[in-house]
Amino acid sequence: MKLTKVYCDLFGHNYKLTKKVTHHVKEYTCSCCKKQLTTSSTGKLTELTEKRQEINLALERIYNNRTVRLQQKLISSSIY
Ligand SMILES: [Zn+2]
Repeated sequence: MKLTKVYCDLFGHNYKLTKKVTHHVKEYTCSCCKKQLTTSSTGKLTELTEKRQEINLALERIYNNRTVRLQQKLISSSIY
């Protein structure tokens, strides 16, 4: 565990996209040390804390609801 931390400190983290919260907000995890990042409200990457995880879950719910509603609207409008 310590070695991977040193590796990340020396060569930088190897972040991989792990979750798409919304179109703009995404979550990343370092494949070496498992450190997690997320997109903040300013569009910069910031550490994924418990609080941010909660915010992201709420965002995800709102975002998904909106997408579903938009799709339903498109479907119903294409029928008529
Ligand atoms: Zn790392």
